[in-house]
Amino acid sequence: MAKRDYYDILGVSRNASADEIKKAYRQLAIKYHPDKNPDDKDAEEKFKEAAEAYDALSNPEKKQRYDQFGHAGMGGAGGGGFNMDDIFSQFGDIFGDNDFFGSFFGGQGGRRGGPRRQPGSNIRIRIKLTLAEMRHGVEKKVKYRRMVEAEGVQYSDCKNCGGTGSVRKITNTFLGQMATTAPCQVCQGMGRTITSKPREANEQGLVGQEFETTIKIPGGVAEGMQLSVNGQGNSGPGGGPAGDLIVLIEQIEHEELQRDGNHVIYTLWLSFPEAALGASVEVPTLDGAAKIKIDSGTQPGKVLRLKGKGFPDLNGYGTGDQLIHVQVYVPTKLNSEEKDQLLKLQDSKNFKPEEKDKSFFDRMKDMF
Ligand SMILES: [Zn+2]
Repeated sequence: MAKRDYYDILGVSRNASADEIKKAYRQLAIKYHPDKNPDDKDAEEKFKEAAEAYDALSNPEKKQRYDQFGHAGMGGAGGGGFNMDDIFSQFGDIFGDNDFFGSFFGGQGGRRGGPRRQPGSNIRIRIKLTLAEMRHGVEKKVKYRRMVEAEGVQYSDCKNCGGTGSVRKITNTFLGQMATTAPCQVCQGMGRTITSKPREANEQGLVGQEFETTIKIPGGVAEGMQLSVNGQGNSGPGGGPAGDLIVLIEQIEHEELQRDGNHVIYTLWLSFPEAALGASVEVPTLDGAAKIKIDSGTQPGKVLRLKGKGFPDLNGYGTGDQLIHVQVYVPTKLNSEEKDQLLKLQDSKNFKPEEKDKSFFDRMKDMF
């Protein structure tokens, strides 16, 4: 099923402020909150959908990626939907005890599924792509090291917080008593402490592991763009959700073709006779060589266009072209026979630059 646009889900415009996005999400989260809609699958789906949209649009990095790539930028292999635990663990700022949301749901904070587990950190890798791979899209196998929970780590519930990961404090203020919660200092909010772990595991019970995954890269990506694969980063301590794998795209230079936005640029050098007489020449494209026809009287500076031979737009706004910039080579070495022939042509009226005005209008005609 095609995913809905995140802005549509939240019902905000594409240039909504962070505040507007948060507000829109709160309203939806309240409307579809499981406490209010028990055993309502449809409400649950809407609740998850809104959380996913908010997750993407409330994070500046993810938002930029979404604006740039759409859903394609939001995680390929292994990127799953949201489950309820994720939602309640990730949006403490929305579901926190002290805010509007908490009071709405009787101080339960709306949080369920136990303690809030710390997510793991993101991992950044680079992938080098040829222009052809950027044009067509490609699947790349990547190997990297990530931290995962070691086998045989044993936990017990944290005694300090009773396994909730947070401690409640009552403070006296001039308004009366106020309850606040803070992450438990003993277990760092994990809700449990490690009682035994294998020697190779670190303090958080994690070990480094070689990992291999296949990343699906959509056609149209460009140098400097970042793709994110959800949940393929380091595992969180104590069973927290994994961070993301962030893939930075780098371009391998092509020997003859350049990139300009979604267009491919090629400089075609013609000999003087080819430009004057016309010719059929081969030019490189990202799909192999293409034959093109050069009209007689072609001037340097003329731009020929191979439609659709550029890069697809990531947001679906068509495909770029290959632009062929024509240059004409003027010989720098001539033997005496060639010199004689050129001297004979020098006085011919057709070789006078005064004729260029006429050809200029011909060129303009080609352009419009
Ligand atoms: Zn604790």
